[in-house]
Amino acid sequence: MDKSNVISPFHGDHDHSHCQAQAIESAIEECNRKGLRLTKLRQQVLEIIWTSHCPIGAYDVLQKLQEAGHKPAPPTAYRALDFLVSASLIHRIESLNAYIGCPSPGGQHQCQFYICSECHTVAETNNVNVSEALQTAADEIGFHSTAPVIEIHGVCKDCQNTSD
Ligand SMILES: [Zn+2]
Ligand SMILES: [Zn+2]
Ligand SMILES: [Zn+2]
Repeated sequence: MDKSNVISPFHGDHDHSHCQAQAIESAIEECNRKGLRLTKLRQQVLEIIWTSHCPIGAYDVLQKLQEAGHKPAPPTAYRALDFLVSASLIHRIESLNAYIGCPSPGGQHQCQFYICSECHTVAETNNVNVSEALQTAADEIGFHSTAPVIEIHGVCKDCQNTSD
């Protein structure tokens, strides 16, 4: 994947409505390409997740659906989340048990997540060098990685600047 696809959400002044619109558009394209059905509910769940770059838990997604006047049974909403994860339109941040939208569905996925502990923004990178280094390290100890997902906790630039 070329560098132009590296999106940093760590800038409070970025045009997020653009991110959100772009994400929904790529999701629709990706589903068409793979022959997946992006139902109305699935798209609504995706829009809720893309409200921000902060991960959102399954229960909060359900609450937001209800606030918007939808009353899906919880299992239906949770199945919509499962669908979005398996279609790689969203990712689950294991250490937070919450979901984040994928800015590059369909692209090459190495999945490194940078999680700001102050503003809770999460950025995704797909740096091949990182995964190759991990692969080399795994080979050295005779280990076969099946889920090489990295979650890195820290503080983003914006929050570093405001915390002093
Ligand atoms: Zn954004
Ligand atoms: Zn992704
Ligand atoms: Zn931050």
